[in-house]
Amino acid sequence: MMDLREIFCNQCKKSFGVYNEKFFSEKNLEKLKNRYGSLHEFYGHDVIIR
Ligand SMILES: [Zn+2]
Repeated sequence: MMDLREIFCNQCKKSFGVYNEKFFSEKNLEKLKNRYGSLHEFYGHDVIIR
């Protein structure tokens, strides 16, 4: 069974990638979210890990 998480901007409906939980811890996902989503968050968008 694959457990996939996606980093996603709610406003842009944009995906910043899909990651397998098995290889990416919550902490790593947060880092990726900060790296790829920070500009969106700067503009007030909700970047989520779902
Ligand atoms: Zn956005």
